[in-house]
Amino acid sequence: MKITRVTTHHHRTGFTFGASTQGAGGNLHLRAMDTLLVRVETDAGIHGWGEGFGFTVAETTKDAVDRLIGPACIGQDAGDIAGLTRMLARRFHNFGRNGPVTFGISAIDIALWDIRAKAAGKPLHALLGPAARPAVPAYASLLRYGRPDDVARNVERALALGYRHIKLHEVDLACIRAAHAAAPDVPLMLDINCAWDTEGEAIEFCESVATLGAAWVEEPVWPPEDIPAIARIRAASPVPIAAGECNGTVEDFCRMFELRAVDVAQPSVTKIGGLSAMLEIAELAREAGVRMVPHCPYFGPGLLATLHLLAALEEAEPIEIYFADLDRAPYGAALLPRGGAIALPQAPGLGWEPEPG
Ligand SMILES: [Mg+2]
Repeated sequence: MKITRVTTHHHRTGFTFGASTQGAGGNLHLRAMDTLLVRVETDAGIHGWGEGFGFTVAETTKDAVDRLIGPACIGQDAGDIAGLTRMLARRFHNFGRNGPVTFGISAIDIALWDIRAKAAGKPLHALLGPAARPAVPAYASLLRYGRPDDVARNVERALALGYRHIKLHEVDLACIRAAHAAAPDVPLMLDINCAWDTEGEAIEFCESVATLGAAWVEEPVWPPEDIPAIARIRAASPVPIAAGECNGTVEDFCRMFELRAVDVAQPSVTKIGGLSAMLEIAELAREAGVRMVPHCPYFGPGLLATLHLLAALEEAEPIEIYFADLDRAPYGAALLPRGGAIALPQAPGLGWEPEPG
């Protein structure tokens, strides 16, 4: 089965997230949700869909697939996922082993897994592991609001929708206190996106949130690749440490595990090299005794691929759902959580066809 065509689709949509766009701080620089959808076609008539990391780099990821990765895939064996992605990584390594080229290769890998499962006539999760869960619990990943009243109101909204796990992207302690007051029994995952420049500030933050229901502190320090610094913060922190969404290679996770840098590893399927890399990291995390809870603020094939992976793995972990309402989601209403969980599609492959738009 040879690859005959690779096409890219920049998917852009407006969104709301339960706050006034006139407010202060927060995620207000995000005017739209952008991602890159990639379709791979074969001479067997089977096609697959993948997703490469988008947001503010969607156009650069698109360029990487259009100019470099897509043309290199034409005529290649769609069934040899490991061989093809290894060839792509080697051929384009001078463009960097992290960033838009790796994001593009991730999209191809996801599409090839979709094709493999469609060819096998099975839902993708059946190829990824034994668990075959019919649904995966979701956690609401709230965008940054920057105002305590907005945070509290949206925590309550998430709970009313059935979510039982919540992540915040707040750095301001007043906002975190407001969330804890609104939901005192709900553990709060705290993602600060490398806000602190020094280990001392990061440790002080971890100490401050230890009594505010913190389930973990995510990406405590800049830069994200300073894994020894993350390990030192973890050694001093009273709360668990999570990181890994900015890693570009499986080897980065090896180093995280060797240095005991994290309690929770967070590879991102549209960035790290697709499902093939996720499966490798899942195995390494299991050996290291580290939880793997993927990074997944996505709405397209990246979300579906992560859903199938979490349905398949022995360890039951929740899926991240970005707490935003899109004007035009890639799968329409098909992937909306109900009662705090997402049901697995059972059609062959990823199970849904995106509207590329
Ligand atoms: Mg994060």
